[in-house]
Amino acid sequence: MSAIGLYARKTAGFDERLARTVEVLRQAAADFGPGALQSTSLGVEDMVITDLIARHGLPIALATLDTGRLHAETLALIPRIQQRYGLAVEVFAPVNEQVVHFVRANGDDAMYRSVELRKACCGVRKLEPLARMLQGRTAWITGLRREQSANRAEVPFREDDGQGRVKVNPLAEWSWADVWHYVQANEVPYNPLHDEFMPSIGCAPCTRAIAVGEDFRAGRWWWEDSSKECGLHATHAEPGTAESESQASPLTFNATTGAPA
Ligand code: SF4
Repeated sequence: MSAIGLYARKTAGFDERLARTVEVLRQAAADFGPGALQSTSLGVEDMVITDLIARHGLPIALATLDTGRLHAETLALIPRIQQRYGLAVEVFAPVNEQVVHFVRANGDDAMYRSVELRKACCGVRKLEPLARMLQGRTAWITGLRREQSANRAEVPFREDDGQGRVKVNPLAEWSWADVWHYVQANEVPYNPLHDEFMPSIGCAPCTRAIAVGEDFRAGRWWWEDSSKECGLHATHAEPGTAESESQASPLTFNATTGAPA
């Protein structure tokens, strides 16, 4: 059965949550103008946000990271977004010399050997291009939801990313059923790997399907007993982990006005 068949359900309060999400996006566009960027992982939550940006004609640019280890199904969404919405997705890739150097020194599958090597791989393939992606931006829009993991249970609509920018999380209060209800109702294109029990999709070597009852992010870096974060969203790493060292105090904002609460 497809992910839509399994999960889509309109639950109480969905229309109100959707209205708040649209308001959060509108306010981000108004407050940050061209400084706002949707950093899309091309996962289903981000596809919902892209659909909302397109549907409401919001002047928010789109960008993604191509780590060089993504599934073909993930990359195929970039031209689909262009075809469906007429929106370009700017692609940021790692510096080739850094990748070659890392692979020569540590091998293609170094991530399985230690947490340090896994984080080093994420550093080269994700964090460095992310830093370039966000250069000159004042706000970035993500698909983080509170329900995704215990680490993310406190995700606010807006927060300080610890690097002088505002991180906007318009789906913070959405459930998994909400996401798939929206996808079904609006025929949002999505990664077919979600139909294969991969709720959270990252690089191919670091993503597996989850079993019934497992945590949403259990399929990411499944061989590790860690916080299941790669540093992109360090403010939601588990306290005490290396990733939480740069943790900034999350700011909460009024969902409707965007003002600090
Ligand atoms: S998710 Fe895996 S392959 Fe991708 S950058 Fe991190 S360690 Fe490397």
